[in-house]
Amino acid sequence: MGYLVNIHSPCQSSLVISKSAVMGHFSAHPNGRGWVDFCDHITPLFADIVGAKEKEVACMGTLTANLHLMMDSFYKPTPERFKILCEAHAFPSDQYAFASQALAHGLDPAKTVLELSPRPGEYTLREQDILDVIAREGSSIALVIFSGVQYYTGQWFPMQAITRAAQEQGCICGWDLAHAVGNVPLSLHDWGVDFAVWCTYKYLNAGPGSIAGLYVHEKWKETELPKFAGWWGHDPATRFAMPPKFSPIEGAQGFQQSNPSILAAASLLGSLQVFKEAGMMEPLRERSLQLTGALEKLLKQSKYFVPVEKAVERQSAKPAFTIITPADPQSRGAQLSLLFLPIGVMQHIHEALTSFGVIGDERNPSVIRLAPAPLFNTLKDCEQGALLLERAFDSLASN
Ligand SMILES: *Cc1c(COP(=O)(O)O)cnc(C)c1O
Repeated sequence: MGYLVNIHSPCQSSLVISKSAVMGHFSAHPNGRGWVDFCDHITPLFADIVGAKEKEVACMGTLTANLHLMMDSFYKPTPERFKILCEAHAFPSDQYAFASQALAHGLDPAKTVLELSPRPGEYTLREQDILDVIAREGSSIALVIFSGVQYYTGQWFPMQAITRAAQEQGCICGWDLAHAVGNVPLSLHDWGVDFAVWCTYKYLNAGPGSIAGLYVHEKWKETELPKFAGWWGHDPATRFAMPPKFSPIEGAQGFQQSNPSILAAASLLGSLQVFKEAGMMEPLRERSLQLTGALEKLLKQSKYFVPVEKAVERQSAKPAFTIITPADPQSRGAQLSLLFLPIGVMQHIHEALTSFGVIGDERNPSVIRLAPAPLFNTLKDCEQGALLLERAFDSLASN
């Protein structure tokens, strides 16, 4: 990542520290990027990438911690309205967070967290089924919170329709955008989303554990949002005067608690600058649609491919695969989740693919996720990937 090296090379960082010590935090930074307000360079890019206003986003913390902060402010269960609606098999960290939030309010997670499963024999949720549950159970639901893009199936949920339906029933609607940010175009502000959180080390490439993101719609006024405060959420004009009383920044940045990790933020800024140079989400999405569409077409030509509706009856048959990610490009991002049959085949295929240099992501029991990321994957990669998958199957058959 050339940017990162040019702007924040270790030499310059140590130069700042050796010559300026703590002053690097403020104005003595050689590139005019004092560490104290470093995230001010990130918020405009965050706002652009999630479709929000700058004051609606904050660069802070980590995903799961931010999710807890948002639930602390927005999840206010009452005896009548206490449920949390989410998709079944949500990312484990989210499941743990939802259950522990229920417990923190003295509630039984089993009766509080409502997990929506696909119909029998199907792998992804139908929009109408989600909307029906919200209409039917909405009056007992406090919070509707789905993944923007589901990590296992790759399904991009109809975010605007779910948000509207949830709010019509008086529910709060939040989103976990871990696999959506930098992958699909988002318009959080216009969709009226209440809050969202994301990490920056999937499509945003900032490195595991890197600094994360948080969004709160501007319609939420400071007085309505109780929060666990910290000095980084305090008005920067008086932060270093260190007054005893907390005076929060208006908007999402009022949730900041601590100094941002400067090394993590530097790697994120370097990555977001590459997104900016690529024109942000509109051209990237266009290229993503082409690449994912091309990969899907090639995979479907395989002699080992079975259509998803036939996959269930093929459980005990010869090695084969299907694609469980929705076929409609509007219901997915860059990811295709390949489901391998019967049980055990996935592990062999994954091993073979890895040895051929095709890096997919193995999800037990039977899925490999392939994601042609438009920023750096090419059509040739898709062709090679499909070809080598065929070779992996052939090698399995000949063993
Ligand atoms: C990757 C991911 C996480 C990981 O959370 P961290 O707090 O960053 O470790 C959580 N939820 C979802 C949906 C994810 O995809």
